[in-house]
Amino acid sequence: MAENGREGGLSAPTRHPLNQNDPEFWDESALNKELERVYDICHGCRRCVSLCNAFPTLFDLVDESPTMEVDGVKVADYTKVVDQCYLCDLCYLTKCPYVPPHEWNVDFPHLMLRAKAVKFKKGETRFRDNLITSTDLIGKLASQPVLNTLVNAGNNNGTIRKLLDKSLGIHKDASLPTYSRKPARKQLANLAYDAMSAPARQTDDPVDRVTLFTTCYCNYNEPSIADSVVKILKHNNVVVDLAEREHCCGMPKLELGDLKAVTLLKERNIPALYAKVKQGNTIVAAVPSCVLMFKQELPLMFPDDEQVQAVAKAFNDPFEYLYKLHKQGKLNTEFKTSLGNVSYHVACHQRVQNIGPKTRQVLELIPDTTVHNIERCSGHDGTYGVKSETFEFANKIAKPIVRQIKEKSPDYYGSDCPVAGKHIENNLESDQKAIHPLDLLCIAYGL
Ligand code: SF4
Ligand code: SF4
Repeated sequence: MAENGREGGLSAPTRHPLNQNDPEFWDESALNKELERVYDICHGCRRCVSLCNAFPTLFDLVDESPTMEVDGVKVADYTKVVDQCYLCDLCYLTKCPYVPPHEWNVDFPHLMLRAKAVKFKKGETRFRDNLITSTDLIGKLASQPVLNTLVNAGNNNGTIRKLLDKSLGIHKDASLPTYSRKPARKQLANLAYDAMSAPARQTDDPVDRVTLFTTCYCNYNEPSIADSVVKILKHNNVVVDLAEREHCCGMPKLELGDLKAVTLLKERNIPALYAKVKQGNTIVAAVPSCVLMFKQELPLMFPDDEQVQAVAKAFNDPFEYLYKLHKQGKLNTEFKTSLGNVSYHVACHQRVQNIGPKTRQVLELIPDTTVHNIERCSGHDGTYGVKSETFEFANKIAKPIVRQIKEKSPDYYGSDCPVAGKHIENNLESDQKAIHPLDLLCIAYGL
């Protein structure tokens, strides 16, 4: 029997391009046929039941149908499964034995993405979802002087939050991010000069050159994380600069199925990043979802775009990059402060990058530091944790992480995904705040 016909074959999983330019991608009856085929395989397998709420939704639909098979589920109900998927990719990477090259060719997340794209094209997406995925627009507005005060005050005002819940469907108890008055790209504007002149201005003996993609979240909500990346890199004699322009990576719009917006954002971001790649720079970003977008999703959407492929190759998770420096003997390992016990949540979008436990490996270079990895989905996943209809599910998904942190009573806890870190913090109900691993590294270096 050919290896690619075997469950759990030895070949490495591969991912096929999304094929969004093929008319069949958008054909609803072809989509429903494929959903039925894959739902049927999942019904017979059920390995993913504990990963998220998409699979329990599917299995409940099947078990409550007249035939107790997928053919008994109403086609109109297929979307109930799709609506519970936030494209974390974990089912593809950690569970599914039927991913390509297996002949059953199951790519559950990308099938969900196709269904979301078709739904979006039909205009069935809520205004709220279009709004909260417009991270560039919201960030730009919410960092303006007067609006900044109003937005931050409104996000913490019970009456306004009840109104938002009723009118928009943003849960009144969901923690919304605070907006900074001075975005990271403004704070770090001195880095945005021609990289050719950078070495002399930052360090006399540079070991490498990195372009920081600040990300919407670090740019508008937590500029301190972008600042930590810069401090750490400079401390390691790495020249850092910013791309000339930066827009949202497109992941929020991808999760909504708005592929036109993803394409537009790609066209805005890639030329500026490619210019840095041509200069020999590595690119890093401190949010795993944004890194994954450039490393995996855009290359699968635009397989023939050479600039997209070159940017993907140059993109690194920050700890992946730091560990590479360490392997080359170039990482500064003179730490001033140990971290003790650290509970560290491994973000799904970092796990699926297949880079290994690089954050833990770097943090454990710090003397008297033990890192306890928690490999569970946090449940926040961008917008899932703030929507009124999914807020409770998001909290339920976070519970096993919260339990593990409580059991360990760590000196520090946090996640590479700052949004997941905040979500865990809110569910922990303690005064101890989540700290991003890059901030932990700054503490250890004494920066
Ligand atoms: S991609 Fe994530 S959220 Fe979507 S079905 Fe798979 S495990 Fe669930
Ligand atoms: S995605 Fe794969 S592993 Fe998960 S339930 Fe479906 S067939 Fe099974």
